[in-house]
Amino acid sequence: MEQKFPYHSVTVEEALEKLQSQPDGLTDEEAKRRQQEYGPNELTGKEGINPILLFLNQFKDFLILVLVIAAGVAWYAGHMVDVYVILGVIMFNAVLGFFQEYRAEKAIQALKSMLKQEAKVLRNGQLRTLEARELVPGDIIQLEEGDSIPADARLIRGKNLQTIEASLTGESLPIEKHTEPLDEKTNLGDKTNMLWKGTHVARGSATAVVAAIGGATELGKISQSLGSIKATTTNFRKKTERLAKQMAFIAIGTSTLVFLLGYFYRDYAFEEVLLVTVATLVSSIPEGLPAVITIVLAIGANRMAKQNAITREFTSTEMLGSVSVILTDKTGTLTKSVLTVGSVYLGDGSEVEVSGTGYAVDGELRHEGQSITAADNPVLQKLLLISKECNNAHLGKPKAGEGGKSAEPEVTGDPTEVALLVLAKKALAKEKGLLPEVKQIDDLPFSSEQKFRATLVEVEGQRELLVVGAPEKILKLSNRILTKQGLQELTEELRLRIQNKNDEWADKAMRVLGLAYVEADASNSVAKADEVKNLVWVGITGIVDPPRTGVQEAVSDCKSAGIRVIMVTGDHKKTGAAIAREVGILDADAGEGKYPLALQEDELEVDDRQFEELVDHVSVFTRVSPNTKLRIAEHLQSKGHLIAMTGDGVNDAPALKRADVGIAMGIRGTDVAKDASQIVLSDDNFATIVRAVREGRIVFQNVRQTSFFLLTTNFAFVSVFIITIILGWPFPLTATQILWVNLVTDGVMELGLATERGHGDIMKHKPIPRDVNILDRSVVPYILLMSVVMLGLALASFAYYLPQGEETARTAVFIVISMTQVFNTFNMRSLEYSVFGIGIFSNKYVNMAFIASVLLQLIVVYTPFLSGVFRFEKLPIVDLLIIFVLSTLVIWVAEIYKWVSRKKLDNV
Ligand code: ADP
Ligand code: MG
Repeated sequence: MEQKFPYHSVTVEEALEKLQSQPDGLTDEEAKRRQQEYGPNELTGKEGINPILLFLNQFKDFLILVLVIAAGVAWYAGHMVDVYVILGVIMFNAVLGFFQEYRAEKAIQALKSMLKQEAKVLRNGQLRTLEARELVPGDIIQLEEGDSIPADARLIRGKNLQTIEASLTGESLPIEKHTEPLDEKTNLGDKTNMLWKGTHVARGSATAVVAAIGGATELGKISQSLGSIKATTTNFRKKTERLAKQMAFIAIGTSTLVFLLGYFYRDYAFEEVLLVTVATLVSSIPEGLPAVITIVLAIGANRMAKQNAITREFTSTEMLGSVSVILTDKTGTLTKSVLTVGSVYLGDGSEVEVSGTGYAVDGELRHEGQSITAADNPVLQKLLLISKECNNAHLGKPKAGEGGKSAEPEVTGDPTEVALLVLAKKALAKEKGLLPEVKQIDDLPFSSEQKFRATLVEVEGQRELLVVGAPEKILKLSNRILTKQGLQELTEELRLRIQNKNDEWADKAMRVLGLAYVEADASNSVAKADEVKNLVWVGITGIVDPPRTGVQEAVSDCKSAGIRVIMVTGDHKKTGAAIAREVGILDADAGEGKYPLALQEDELEVDDRQFEELVDHVSVFTRVSPNTKLRIAEHLQSKGHLIAMTGDGVNDAPALKRADVGIAMGIRGTDVAKDASQIVLSDDNFATIVRAVREGRIVFQNVRQTSFFLLTTNFAFVSVFIITIILGWPFPLTATQILWVNLVTDGVMELGLATERGHGDIMKHKPIPRDVNILDRSVVPYILLMSVVMLGLALASFAYYLPQGEETARTAVFIVISMTQVFNTFNMRSLEYSVFGIGIFSNKYVNMAFIASVLLQLIVVYTPFLSGVFRFEKLPIVDLLIIFVLSTLVIWVAEIYKWVSRKKLDNV
């Protein structure tokens, strides 16, 4: 079989034959054989990391150029040793850069592997969910609304099928698909019997046979990698670019000053000044910063992934830290989404309680505490029939029961429908032949716009339309009611009674559904929603869906973190308000004040000004359609809020894209929603979002701390040079020594800082404003403190050792400068808290970097060959220890500064 064959020009049967497949799928053996022949269904891109290329990449740097110039100057001046050292530094830098980037790349790869695409495939006649990469030509796949299409395929069967091919053809309107053969010369965009990898099902469902996989697909041909991690210019990129510019500006400014002072004010030899200038420039340019930022983001993203929030777009990790409003849906995110029907209210006015919890088919129907049977109650039977048949969910085998609890079955499908199915099964478990045989003819699935679902069935030779949906919607479509005495007119009084019951249950946080039916004939269909009308009302079911554990705490964490939580749900107003109260979005004792507690969509049909006022004051929006969700989001953004928004359906995609951080539900969500989002929650849990926000704040903090570290140490370092030049002393370090200091401190220590965990009440602060600078004024005290200590110690030891010769004095300065920088790392682990409070040895990467850094210093001073090359002189161990201890002064001074500023904060 060939993947290039024009499958659109032949019939379904011919396509199947050509692909050597049949309607019930390939066998496992055949699939395995084809996998070997065709390889995985993947787009071949530069997926893996090529270590050699990555290493060579390190030499493209601007900095390397500067170093090469330095080597040239040294060579010209005849300092051959310096030339070798500089070349060594270039190598070392490349190795270090390589490891930093390799680590960042690895972390990105680890994230990518969590974003697996799945496909529903028929193999050996059974429907299975496989990873999309395992598909082979000839596989029979099934697709439904919201699915991403995993390979190019020829349509075998479609129902109301529409796909969106914007990612492939640019056409943004949905395209209707059918199975008839087309002319061979049809354009790609008009091949309406083919489905393309990387496009989406917007509506309906389909069965199709895979015609091409991987690189042979249309998408593969334009080799556009989809579902990969995107790096767009986000808010965070802007911040880090500004940071890089500021740091480069400071570095160039200060080293120019060194040159000017050295050359014009004091006349050191030109080559010497130039070498020292180049060396200070090299060491004060934060060459490692981009890699460190990537590592901070990657670490943040991986920590989030461990807590069930998977990042699709890297910089959104940091963006989450700035989120000031979370727009969340209710069912499944705030609630457990294990729905159970607890009560039934029939058209004849009788109420039935249903026992049992979760999805376990273990419970009974009761009336006023007494177990009842449905055998002699036609209304209840009808309700059970609708529950069972107007339904697309499945109950599987019970999962292994845990400790005495009744076993819950494996379920597939919409939780609302599962709840109805479980209700019917509970009744059927007691009375086998209770309900008649039913044949499904057609089905209109639930959508959040139309707010009901309908199924056309045949019951004992008679066609019927069964309908389930939001009660007020179903009531509007009904004109009669089923009672024990038969059909009656649905009077105003009866409607009111039903409405009251609905409100009563909704107030108890129940999700209420209306059930109805109508007799039909061959002319009826459910192809369109408006063919559902003139219904016979049967009853309502009240479904309980308790809040998830941990959500209440998460909501209160949001409050203290200055984040507003807004619920946006398709459910009933009272149900929404009741759940909002249970989880704390509304205060338990909140009453209606100037603004209502909750609003439903039709109450939002007001002019823009009023709308905005309402959105600013109300936190529960109900019966909301995806469009209104978008409108709410846009208003909040225009007010300067950074918003995170959850979503799961096809229609949520525009709002998810619009939000600053779109969050898709991993379990419930459609592929479309996931593709439109930056974050995917693998547990659908609201509390996970809040944990992710915390990680986002840590990311920002770590970037800030690392850049403070680089800036404070570099600034202090250059000031040592400027002052010694002004004093007219010899240079306190040679160019090669400067380069080595830079390597053994900055290069090593910043990696440790990148891994720091959050400290203290990171969730007690307000959100980080969206356009705050990473470098701000709070760095100034640290710059002064670091400069004063380093300068004081360096000048003192230089002066003290100078009588013993320049080489000894430089060795002492080298140790002072290195050690004060190393100890400063401990300060920068938290800008607020005492390093003893957060545990001085609690960051094992900082500890490792500390040891590595000290070893590198000792090696270069005490190995005869290297100390010769760098022109160091051995210091007595006692002197060394004294310098070590004195260098810890940076820590003590910083501790005092932190203590004073904490005191000041406490007093305001
Ligand atoms: P949410 O997910 O925010 O609770 P939905 O838009 O899913 O809101 O549901 C809105 C309303 O539509 C529900 O209150 C319920 O009455 C009805 N409904 C929800 N799911 C289904 C379904 N699968 N079948 C029939 N009706 C449903
Ligand atoms: Mg829903």
